[in-house]
Amino acid sequence: MRTPAPVPRAAEDASAWSLVFDGFDPAREGIREALCTLGNGYFATRAAAAWAEADGVHYPGTYIAGGYNRLQTNIAGRTIENEDLVNFPNWLALRFRIAEEGWFDLSRVAILSYRQELDLRRGLLLSAVRFEDKGRRIVLREQRLVSMADMHLGAVELTLTAENWSGPVTVRSGLDGRIVNTGAKLYRKFNNKHLEYLSGQIIGEDGVCLQVRTSQSRFHVAQVARTQMFIDGCVLESSRRGVEEPGYIWQDLTVDIKQGESLTVEKLAFLYTSRDQAISEAGLAARKATRRAGRYAAVKADHLLVWEDLWRRFDVRIRPAVPGFRLNVSMLLRLNMFHLLQTVSIHSIDLDIGIPARGWTGEAYQGHIFWDELFIFPFFNYRLPEITRAILTYRYRRLGEARAAAQAAGHKGAMFPWQSGSDGQEETDKLNLNPHSQRWVPDNSYLQRHVGSAIAYNVWQYFQVTHDVEFLQFYGAELMLEIALFWSSMATLNNERGRYEIRGVMGPDEFHDAYPGAATPGLNNNAYTNVMAVWVICRSLELLDRISKARRTELTIRLGISLAEIARWEDISRRMYVPFQADGIISQFEGYDALDELDWAAYRRRYTDIQRLDLILEAEGDSPNRYKLSKQADVVMLFYLFSADELGELFARLGYPINHDTIPNNINYYVARTSYGSTLCRVVYSWVLARSDRPRSMAFFADALQSDVNDSQHGTTAEGVHLGAMAGTVDQVLRVSTGIEVKSDVLLFNPELPPEIECLESRIRYRGHSLDLRLTHDALTVSGESMNVAPIALSVAGKIYDYVSGTTRVFELNDGGVKPAPSQKG
Ligand code: BGC
Repeated sequence: MRTPAPVPRAAEDASAWSLVFDGFDPAREGIREALCTLGNGYFATRAAAAWAEADGVHYPGTYIAGGYNRLQTNIAGRTIENEDLVNFPNWLALRFRIAEEGWFDLSRVAILSYRQELDLRRGLLLSAVRFEDKGRRIVLREQRLVSMADMHLGAVELTLTAENWSGPVTVRSGLDGRIVNTGAKLYRKFNNKHLEYLSGQIIGEDGVCLQVRTSQSRFHVAQVARTQMFIDGCVLESSRRGVEEPGYIWQDLTVDIKQGESLTVEKLAFLYTSRDQAISEAGLAARKATRRAGRYAAVKADHLLVWEDLWRRFDVRIRPAVPGFRLNVSMLLRLNMFHLLQTVSIHSIDLDIGIPARGWTGEAYQGHIFWDELFIFPFFNYRLPEITRAILTYRYRRLGEARAAAQAAGHKGAMFPWQSGSDGQEETDKLNLNPHSQRWVPDNSYLQRHVGSAIAYNVWQYFQVTHDVEFLQFYGAELMLEIALFWSSMATLNNERGRYEIRGVMGPDEFHDAYPGAATPGLNNNAYTNVMAVWVICRSLELLDRISKARRTELTIRLGISLAEIARWEDISRRMYVPFQADGIISQFEGYDALDELDWAAYRRRYTDIQRLDLILEAEGDSPNRYKLSKQADVVMLFYLFSADELGELFARLGYPINHDTIPNNINYYVARTSYGSTLCRVVYSWVLARSDRPRSMAFFADALQSDVNDSQHGTTAEGVHLGAMAGTVDQVLRVSTGIEVKSDVLLFNPELPPEIECLESRIRYRGHSLDLRLTHDALTVSGESMNVAPIALSVAGKIYDYVSGTTRVFELNDGGVKPAPSQKG
């Protein structure tokens, strides 16, 4: 047993660590289930009650990271193939009934009190219901975890106390594989039965085993559950009745309990798959693990220790100033971090997974991986780069598929898919059902080729923070060069203009997929796409100078990057076209300025929610392609990803000097023309306005922070949380306040703590150092453990200092700038 080192914490109350729900609201149960999902980076289980089945109110879901399956459906006259994140057997399946009554269900009883708490610090879901059923009063408590210590293990402890009666209670504990994917409205018309039943087995006195396989990907999953029961702490030995029916195996046990007694049921479930490493076979591994398992309390103790470690590494602690925030910002930030840590964790490192847009908390977007990784990456990169390295190798392994896609489209290099799943082929649906019009509408969002630039951007960020030269030489270089090659082959020289163009794509704003009335989809010269392509090419040129000669020769020969190609990159990086409007506004794409202005006021009057203007306009027989409007940040993404200096350099290289008004003018222009149909854009707008318009920035931040607790996209949270927005808010608090950035091998700080925060503390990793940061309005303190690593260069508000591990440096921040205090030994 080890004693964990104390975690330095600003004093705060328990509410900063708990998401609490009082009362039961069937209409919002789906949101609660997604928000309170427990996971460990290997699998995740939604917070449906242990006794619940999918019934329109509850939706039990257990998802395995990377557990996909393909199915075909005939729809709208076509055969469509989908790759879904599969809902695997429900390991919770724990029901009970009293005397001869039916199985317990909240809708049948009178609820006297109901409380549910997601304990973020400990990774536990706790609930307590007091109810009355035909005069019998009962308190039902549940505690649940998905172990962070053992990635194959989920555990639940259910305690039933008889307040005013005595009588028999029957408990049914099983494994339920009669599951179909019905968790996302959009896909309900698609075939959804992914699981084939293989076997069910009773194991010994208290165990059940269920084995299933996905129909196409042949993903074999074995679950073994052990259920033990106790009355007031004494184990119950009575024999059970075991029943198997296709897809479902369970045991029933009936016991008599007396008034005042408590019956406790402890259920541990082990889940293994044919993709696991270091096992012989999934069923065997699950049975072995069950035999070796201790009681719930022991399992919980191990789990809590790991969560302590995780919070020590990842927590961003803020002490709000007085009066501070109206919201419980500390808790909301932790909820976001909690979900990030449950989606990818140390257990994910060897799993070959990417980070799905909605975590593993529901079936929205079929568990696919988008460019959202761009928003999520920094959270992990500055704290556990082992994870970001693993996320990049998911992309590296799919280079083959991306090369094939580029080739099929007549291009060179690697064309990564907009939506990625198992093998990296394009997974974007061909059609989407507009719920307003009930029409199937073509989905052209696969034309968002900018996803490749997001991958290259992440490779570069990973290298900046870790200086992992080996990674860059091997994986990173190949990824970046292949993406640069793709951009070069996409770019065509317009001789009249004397500039290169990228035609037939979509930018991040998904409302525009074609020119008005055009027969084919695609837009020309999306500014974000073009500038990102230039950035990728510039960094790839830099990279060729950084890697060893031998590796450069190896890669350039193998990838077909000739001297002429490199000369072309140089040329493109100076002559890419970026459309501007006459007033200096960067045009979202070529021809955007000729579009009509939308009558925003009229739409706001007519519809209560205009976030999804695309659906509204389609239902009206109109099209967003006709208007100057955006679903989300597009041009403005450039100000999110690059500092003003970096952007200035890029534009100067292109011969488009930008002046100091360009950024604010563009932000104002696009803020007024955005419908905020994606949670990601609130993060972006909050970020870009953080230092110029604090009130507006804070309003966007508050909205982004509550995207899921408020279900701000109306009905989408129940189908999965929005991980990009979750990560973006945490990242904003840390990186905007401290002004952290890595440039020219220097870790830059440009602190500006918002007035709402008195003190911010966090730990980051940078090039082998573990740095504890403490920022107040008066000082930035950087300290770290003594380690055998090379000193690093820090810059605070423009001045460069050496930092040696094991020392503490205090930089006093005052109106005139920074006054470094003398270093002290740590
Ligand atoms: C957004 C995309 C995002 C996707 C997944 C869409 O609504 O427009 O930018 O990648 O959701 O989160």
